Order: sequence, then C-alpha cells, then structure tokens
Amino acid sequence: METGSLLQSFAIAKDGQIVSVADVERGQACGCTCPACNAPLIARQGDVRVWHFAHALPSDCPGGAETALHLAAKKVVERAGGTMFPPISVKRTYRTADGRYGHGEASLPEQWIDFDEVRTEVSFGEVIPDVVGHTAIATYLMEIGVTHFVDADKLAVLQRLGMPAVEIDLSRFERESWDWDALERAVVHSTDNKTWLVCPQQRAIEQQAEELAQRAAESRPVASSAPPAPAAKPNLTRYRPMGRIIDLRDYPFGVVLWTPYDPVFNEVVKGWSRKYGGQYQPKFKNWLFPLPARPFIVGEIEQLLG
Ligand SMILES: [Zn+2]
Repeated sequence: METGSLLQSFAIAKDGQIVSVADVERGQACGCTCPACNAPLIARQGDVRVWHFAHALPSDCPGGAETALHLAAKKVVERAGGTMFPPISVKRTYRTADGRYGHGEASLPEQWIDFDEVRTEVSFGEVIPDVVGHTAIATYLMEIGVTHFVDADKLAVLQRLGMPAVEIDLSRFERESWDWDALERAVVHSTDNKTWLVCPQQRAIEQQAEELAQRAAESRPVASSAPPAPAAKPNLTRYRPMGRIIDLRDYPFGVVLWTPYDPVFNEVVKGWSRKYGGQYQPKFKNWLFPLPARPFIVGEIEQLLG
C-alpha cells in the first residue's frame, strides 16, 4: 500500500467513543473529531469514493487515519474478548559424532487468548504498543502495521521486555478504508498476517525440536565402522599405453576390457579377442575375456607400454 492512501475510516464521536464513518450522520453533522489532532472532521458519504472522514479545515495531519485505526483495532479486540495468536513451528537437524542425521520438528498451534482488559496508549518505558491485552497472568503486546512497522530498535526493546508480542500486518489487505467486520477479521481472527515479535515459548519449542532431531539421529542404525570390503567392487586396473586408456575390471566371471573408441586401436583389441577368446559386448561397449586370458592380455598391454 502506498503511504497516505489509507483513508480515515474511524473517528471520535461526541461521547468519546470510536465510531466508523458508516455509524454517523453525513458531513459536519457527524460531530466527530480526529483522534490524532482533535480537529473537527466531516463524514464524506458520497457515491464516488468510499466513505471516509476528512478534516473540516485544511490541516496537516498525516497520522489521523492510522491513529483512528489503532483505536478501532482496540475496540474490536475488546468486543471479541480476545485475540487469536499465530502458530509457531521450528525445524532442527542433528548430527551424531559418528555421522548419523536426524530431523525434528516441534510446533505450537494457533491459540486464542482471552483478555480481561484491553488498552491503548500504555507506555512500557521506551515503547507504546498499539494495543495491549491483559490476562490474569500475562500482558500481550500488539503492534498494528499499516504503513509503519516495527524496526530493529523497537524489536530490541520488546525483546528486553520479554512480554509476548505480535505484529499485525494490515498492509497486506491493501484496503484504503476499513469497516468493523473487516477489521475484526484481520485483527482478531486471522493469523497469517500476524508475526511473533517476542514469543515466550520460542526457546522451549526450539529445544523440543532439537531433542526430537537428536533422538531421531540416535535411533538410526550405526553404520559399519569397517571400511567397505575391497572384494565388493570389481578391481579396476588402469593402463596408459601410448597415451591411451585401457581399463581392466576383474569379475568372478571374467575380465572386462574397456578402452575409448579408436578405429586403429580397436583392430588391435579385436586381434586379442580372437587370440584369447574374448567377446565384444555392444551393450556395454567393452570386451569380456575368460579369466585364464588375463595374464596374456596384461602381457600384451605391457608390450605396448614398452
Ligand atoms: Zn487529525
């Protein structure tokens, strides 16, 4: 959302209550004021633009719309009696000293918190969270982002405070105006627009994921510490006569000769094949010789080597 495209959807009525532009009489008759600058507002309820409040006199009040939205957010949380907090999920990998890996995941589902009291403009030292919800045992801080979001400095202060804190991102909805229902859905009920800034259970969830990963790794079978048996793989001998490559692989059923294709050298190998009972295997592009032929072939190669 472009800065400044948020219209003022809420205002302070004569009785001091926060009201929506849909709740009041048209124009100056609304009798509303701006919560940021206290100036009188008029309710614009025209047919062209979405309904919104405007300052009655030309004024420089960039924060009116957002301040009013924070007050309205407090109101919807108060009416709902609580707020849904987002889930947390942590994944960890563990590696044992002998090289076994395990993965662990721990999570906490989204959670509804009932509040005894909801307040705004509560100062916690350097920070004034947008909305504060109190329970009998904890205080939850809510930051509502429309055009301004929590920066690194504020996050550091919140982390020092250690109270559960979330940021509620309203910019994603790209609305230029809000009504009570839309605001209640976004602030109270939905969680995919909420991010934990400080989650008191974070460390415990991480520990749980680490423990699960460790347990998974340790439950895997220990790999044999003996090196792989040499006989398990065919024994490869590579020769390089006259810049060529000749590979001999020993199998229980014979010896396999492979060499990169070369029309001249191919005739040489063909000769050995006839002499020692070899067989060309087109599928593998190599030559299979019977086991007793091996010393003779090696002798031929050694002649080439000089
Ligand atoms: Zn104002």
